[in-house]
Amino acid sequence: MSTGAVPGIRISVVVPCFNEGEVIGAFHTALTAALEKTGEHFEVCYVDDGSTDDTLENLRALAASSPQVRYTSFSRNFGKEAAMLAGLRMSQGAAVALMDADLQHPPELLHRMLELHRHGYDQVVAQRDRAGEGILRTAVSRVYYRAVRHFMDVGLVDGAGDFRLLSRRAVDSLLLLPESNRFSKGLFCWIGFDTVHFTYQNVQRAAGRSKWGGRRLLEYGIDGLLAFNTRPLRLAIHAGLWLFLSALAYALWIAGAAVLNGVDTPGYATLIVAVVALSGIQLVTVGVIGEYVGRIYHESKRRPHYVVRETERMAAAGSIARFPAPTTRTARS
Ligand code: UDP
Ligand code: MG
Repeated sequence: MSTGAVPGIRISVVVPCFNEGEVIGAFHTALTAALEKTGEHFEVCYVDDGSTDDTLENLRALAASSPQVRYTSFSRNFGKEAAMLAGLRMSQGAAVALMDADLQHPPELLHRMLELHRHGYDQVVAQRDRAGEGILRTAVSRVYYRAVRHFMDVGLVDGAGDFRLLSRRAVDSLLLLPESNRFSKGLFCWIGFDTVHFTYQNVQRAAGRSKWGGRRLLEYGIDGLLAFNTRPLRLAIHAGLWLFLSALAYALWIAGAAVLNGVDTPGYATLIVAVVALSGIQLVTVGVIGEYVGRIYHESKRRPHYVVRETERMAAAGSIARFPAPTTRTARS
């Protein structure tokens, strides 16, 4: 639940981490250096998204050595969206920055973001250019954003990701949105408020591997298209209507030709084409409807977004049982 701002803390930095053991130390050093330069009172909220490497051990050590570090660790991998939500819920600052742990979001930019925030902007978005990215990925992203802008009710900006600074009221508005299927890029647009973008040069990740393969990106893309509106359903209605009208015109034409030229027996090619085209459209439509029904089913279960294994408070209170390294067991019930 929303904790609201705690007086004194000016800025909270929320960092979702999944298997970032290799880079988290370097990231933390760079981040604290940048934050100390701003001269503001700060806290860092790490969220360990069920990492299987030594990320959690690193976070424990960081939290033990600095009171400004807090962390939440999930019982398994729940995805970046859930991790960001947990981080936003933890945050207590008057402004909250969201950052990746792989140093792709340069901490030095925080200074500029705070500056813009002081000018009254509720959302300050650092928008990366696509330098150093594959031609194919850039091209696919361009087409995707164009399609999304065309189909969706909220406008997404290419390169504007999760690296942003939010005011407390923007964070509180985000936390009021209860959906399980979270598509943050859309949610950020949906809440509105005064937003400013500035561009920075894309940086490659410092170490470790990206968790976004082609397939995961595709799924994310479909989520984005479907999560925000019911336009695909409207599209199905339009397609059906146009097909019906063209079928009607074609039927009239056949009837007319039969009257004028006598009954002819045209090949079955037209029939096959019509049947195949129609079944294709029907299948797509059923798929689209099914996707929405699936989402309703998912939302109606009202499950929590994540399960917490441990937090820095539990660690400090010594209430964490020291089991051997976690293993996955398959239980049959
Ligand atoms: N991340 C996460 N859970 C996941 C996948 C990623 O918390 O299931 C975190 C990851 O640790 C990183 C950020 O989200 O801090 C961005 O991930 P990544 O660098 O893999 O994505 P990319 O930069 O390639 O888009
Ligand atoms: Mg990255």
